[in-house]
Amino acid sequence: MEIDGRTKICGLIGNPVEHTLSPMIHNTLAQRLGHNMRYVPLLVERDRLKEAVAGAFALNLLGLNVTVPYKSEVIANLREIDELAQNIGAVNTLVRTTDGYKGYNTDMEGLYRAMTSEGIRIGGEQIILLGAGGAARAVAYLCAVKGADKVYMLNRTWDKVQAVAAEVNRAIGRDVVMPMLLKEYSQIPAGKYLAIQGTSVGLAPHVEDVVIAEEAFYKKIHTGFDLIYSPWETKFMKMTKAHGGRAYNGLKMLLYQGIIAYELWNNVTVSEADAQMVYEKLKAHFTLAD
Ligand code: NAP
Repeated sequence: MEIDGRTKICGLIGNPVEHTLSPMIHNTLAQRLGHNMRYVPLLVERDRLKEAVAGAFALNLLGLNVTVPYKSEVIANLREIDELAQNIGAVNTLVRTTDGYKGYNTDMEGLYRAMTSEGIRIGGEQIILLGAGGAARAVAYLCAVKGADKVYMLNRTWDKVQAVAAEVNRAIGRDVVMPMLLKEYSQIPAGKYLAIQGTSVGLAPHVEDVVIAEEAFYKKIHTGFDLIYSPWETKFMKMTKAHGGRAYNGLKMLLYQGIIAYELWNNVTVSEADAQMVYEKLKAHFTLAD
C-alpha cells in the first residue's frame, strides 16, 4: 500500500534500535491486513525521552513500542497506565488516547501466548526461573498470575531476586516465588521442572555462555524456554535437549508481544494464520543469518 495523506505511523523508541525485528512484524502485518500504517525505528538519546514522547504525540503518531533502556522511565510520561503494566513496573507499548498515551506491557501476555501455542502450561506447574532483571520480573508476575504452584527464582545478585520475589508475592497475596542464588540450584527439590531462562547470558555473540554450566541442573528440566532468540538455539537450549528436555527460544514471545501491540493500535484481532505467516518470515531471517 502506498504512503499517502492518511498513512498512520507507529514506531519503536529505545537506544539502540538498529537491530530491531519489530518493523518486520508490523509492516508485514499492515501489508497483509491492508492497513494504511507504517512502523519505523526511532532512536532516542538518553536525556530526551520526555521530548520524544511529547513530540510523537504532537506528530499524531498512532502508537509506540518502547525498548531498553526506557521501559520503566517512560511511565512518568504517560497519561494513563494499564493495571498489569503498573504492577510489572514496565511498559513496552504506548497507545494513543485523546490527550496522551496509555501504557501497556505486552511482553508478558506475549510470552503467555507463545507458551500456549507450544502447548506449555504454567497453571499448577513447578517452575525454575533464571534471572531477576526486567524481563524475569515480568515472567515472575506471569507465572504467579497464571497459577504456578511454585517459582524458584534464581539470580546471581541476591538483593535483586529477594526484592522481586517479595514484591510479586505481596501483589499476588501468596508465597509463590522463592528467591535463591544461582549457585544454590541443587537445593531445589527433586522433580522435573519447566525452566525459563530470563538472563542475558548466552545472547549472541556470546553463544557459548550459559548461566548454569553444571550438567546436573539440566536433569531437572522437562521443558526449557529461553527468552533469548539470537542465537536460534542457545547453549541453555542445547543442554536442556541433551538431557532429554524440550527446548524453545524467545522468538514467538517477540512475535506475540508485537501482535498484541498491533491489535491495540489498530483495534483488530490478528488470526493465528497471519501470526504464523509473520513467524515464518522472522524465522527465515534467523535461519539465513545462522
Ligand atoms: P536485564 O534487566 O539487564 O537483566 C539481566 C539479567 O541477567 C539479570 O538477572 C542479571 O543478573 C543476569 N545476568 C547478566 N549477566 C550475568 C552473568 N554474567 N551471570 C549471571 N547472571 C547474569 O535484562 P532483561 O531486560 O531482563 O533481558 C534479559 C534477556 O531477556 C535478554 O537477553 C533479552 O534479550 C531477553 N528478552 C527477550 C524478549 C523477547 O521478546 N523474546 C523480551 C524481553 C527480553 P544480576 O541481577 O545479578 O545482574
